[in-house]
Formats: sequence, C-alpha cells, structure tokens
Amino acid sequence: MGDVGVPTEFLWRYPHQFSGGQHQRIGIARAIAAEPSIAVCDEPVSALDVSVQSQILNLLGELQRKHGLSFLFISHDLPVIWHVSDRVCVMFLGRVCEMGPTNKVFGAPRHPYTRFLMNAIPSPDPHARNDDVELLEGEVPSPLDPPSGCPFRTRCPLACERCAQEIPALRDVDGVLVACHLSPGR
Ligand code: SF4
Repeated sequence: MGDVGVPTEFLWRYPHQFSGGQHQRIGIARAIAAEPSIAVCDEPVSALDVSVQSQILNLLGELQRKHGLSFLFISHDLPVIWHVSDRVCVMFLGRVCEMGPTNKVFGAPRHPYTRFLMNAIPSPDPHARNDDVELLEGEVPSPLDPPSGCPFRTRCPLACERCAQEIPALRDVDGVLVACHLSPGR
C-alpha cells in the first residue's frame, strides 16, 4: 500500500470508503503484490478525471523504475499511450495493423487506420479549428462476421480489389511492422 501511495491505516476500510483514484491504486497494489515481471493494464485511467489520470500514470512510471516492471497498457487514448509507452501496437477488429517504436508509429503513421486515429486526436487549444478532420466512413464490420481480406477494408478510403481477397501480412517498413497492401515494398 505504501508503494502505491495509500496509507496503511486504510487497510480495513470498505471499498465504498475509497475514491476512484484510490480504487485504481489498490488495484495496482493487488497486481504488483505477487511481484510479476509484467502487468496488464486494461484502460487503467479511462474512468478518472485528468488530474487523477496524471497521478496514476506517474505512479505506474515510478513502479516500473522501482520494480523493473513491464506494462502492457491497453487504451483508446492515443495521447496517453504516446506519453507512457516505448512500443505501440495498433489493432483493428482483433488484428494488428501496425506495431513498432511509439515515436516511429505515431510520428509517421503508415497504416490508414493509424493515420485516421492520429488525425482524430483533439487539439488542446480551445481556439484551434480542425476542419480537415477526416471522418471514418463506411460499414462498421462485425467481429462475429469479419469481412474477407483486410479487416479494415469496409472503412478504408484506399481499399482496392486485393484488399477484399487477401489478408495483408505484417511486413517490416523501416523498423515498423505494417499490415497493408499499399505499404511500401509490396
Ligand atoms: S490493406 Fe487495403 S483496406 Fe487494408 S488498410 Fe491497406 S489499403 Fe486499406
């Protein structure tokens, strides 16, 4: 409890006596109590307000340094992922679209889905306008009945005939793995 910043005198409190941030800290304490080498964090900050989010992210960073831990961090919040991760894997409908060092993937996205996600990040400037935001159109595929070929093809503005016939394999493009028929070197 000390490691995650929860006073030990709170040990006998009931769950309803803790705040949302304290719940997250206790969840993290439970995860690291068994001294794992890797911990899976599934949307660990999505339900928290921004100031508590940054406290929890800082805590994860401290625990990583102190215990030599690795985190598999699952999130839909791209700025948070960019901030916390060394390597990133972008997935669509259960398949990897793009994977590699975070700065390389987010700094120059190669897959159409990653490009769309980066383009959709809101600006922190309240006066900024982004009229060029690209909207993702097309049919939302069902994971129970995925489309043939590339799983992103029903929403991809660049889809061609080959995309409906063949699942694109992951290929190395300048140190980043990309699954798209249109990526360089195909
Ligand atoms: S393989 Fe085709 S459908 Fe899939 S992302 Fe690339 S261009 Fe789009």
